[in-house]
Formats: sequence, C-alpha cells, structure tokens
Amino acid sequence: MTKLKFICIASGSSGNCFYLGTSSYGLLIDAGIGARTICKVLRERGIAIETIMGIFVTHDHGDHIRALGKLSNGRYNIPVYTTEAIHIGISHNYCHTNEIPQNNKRYISKEQTLMIKDLEITPFEIPHDGSDNVGYSIRYGEHNFCFITDIGHITDTVRKYVAKAQHLILEANYDENMLENGPYPAILKERIRGPQGHLSNRDTAEYLANEFPTQLKNLWLCHLSQKNNTQALAYMTVKTALERIGKRVGEDLNLYALQRLHPSATFEFE
Ligand SMILES: [Zn+2]
Ligand SMILES: [Zn+2]
Repeated sequence: MTKLKFICIASGSSGNCFYLGTSSYGLLIDAGIGARTICKVLRERGIAIETIMGIFVTHDHGDHIRALGKLSNGRYNIPVYTTEAIHIGISHNYCHTNEIPQNNKRYISKEQTLMIKDLEITPFEIPHDGSDNVGYSIRYGEHNFCFITDIGHITDTVRKYVAKAQHLILEANYDENMLENGPYPAILKERIRGPQGHLSNRDTAEYLANEFPTQLKNLWLCHLSQKNNTQALAYMTVKTALERIGKRVGEDLNLYALQRLHPSATFEFE
C-alpha cells in the first residue's frame, strides 16, 4: 500500500472540497468551489486532476456542489457519486449551471459499501437540511477516515462510524455567543441551531469528550462559520474539552481547525 494523502482544499459556507488519495489515484469529497481552483491546488501538490476517480457528494447545498457540472463534463469527465435524492436535488439547485451527464451520475445507497480500487467507501445518514445528507466512512488498509461536514445533531448511526475513525473531519460551525450576538436574522439563527442545522464548537467538543473515539489520531474541525466563529475559538473549545478527559493535544492526537478559504497542508499517512 502506498502513502495516503489528505488535503482540505476549502471548508465552510463559501465552499467545501476535500481530497483523499494514494500516489496514483484519489477522490474528492464535495466540489463546492470553482473547478479552476480545485485543479490548481491539486496541481501545486503534484496531483493530476486525471487521477480523480470520483466526486462523493455529501448533500445538495450550493457550497458543496458548485464545480460538479464542470468537473463531470467535457475534458474532466469525472463521475459523481451520491444518493438518488441528492442527485435530484443537485439537478434542481440554482447554483448548478452545467448538468451532470447521465453517464457520470453514480447512485449510491446509505450503508452500502463500494470500492474505488483499494478505497472502501461507506455513505451513512446525516441529519441536516439538504434534500438528503450523507457522511462518508473511507477505509484504506489500516486507515479509517470519517467525513462529516454539515450536521445538525449526533445520531446513533453517526456514533457508529465516528467510533471507528482514526482520522475524523467533523464540523464545528459556530460559537454560541457569536451566533447569539451576531448579525444573522432570528430565523436563520434558529435554523443553524436546530436539529437539522449545524453543530456549535461546544456541541462538537462535548460529544468528543463524552464519547472519545478510542483510535482517534487526527481531528480536523471543518465548516467554520465566517460570521459566527474563529479558528482560535473552535480550536480552544475542543482542545479544552479533550484535555478535561486527559487527552494531550499534539501527543495523543493532533487537532486542526481548518481555514475557510486557504487549502490545508498535505497530510500524509504511511
Ligand atoms: Zn455547507
Ligand atoms: Zn449544508
């Protein structure tokens, strides 16, 4: 097995896109920023867009699907994997200018594992307010990744997949005080806090402190709000909760709060 690479290309309400791959092929999870930026970041990291075997979509909100039309057509010709309900949602979404060609629509079902070469991918149900919503558990050899971007609350299904993860990408969307005192209208605040909305820093911190995944080595906090959060607040809230249960950040596990607009480093795993 060759090295596995993970890159967060973008994360947050302005656009989401993650890369996971080996030295010869890889996947994208969501493609919610411009196709040109995705290609540029990959190229800068020595990854050719031609090696992307598929895009796995979490849900049909604009910040997750923007580049799907471009990347599934023409010279890119990349298949798009998601549930039937999300495919239908994408085809109705205003952000979506180019249609995904029928031959590049791949339909997947929750908790049905599929293989892309040596990557074993299992989508699972997530509570959020897209047409339908999934997270992805992805295994490669000994490595188990779990991708959860937008999520309103933690369910037993989510617990089951997070418990297996060594590498977890999980939302820490907002600081509760910043949201309360921030500029959003009341109805939007309610949507964000609601059970089909997003997790706060505290929600994520308390969940992980109460049910720490025993194998967890790397934790990336994703989908930080521009208006209602900061990297430092998300990081400190989670770090403090983990320290309370005796976990040493930087020794027992690594913790990162992902930047919204700048790609992360390339993380490599043997
Ligand atoms: Zn989102
Ligand atoms: Zn969303």
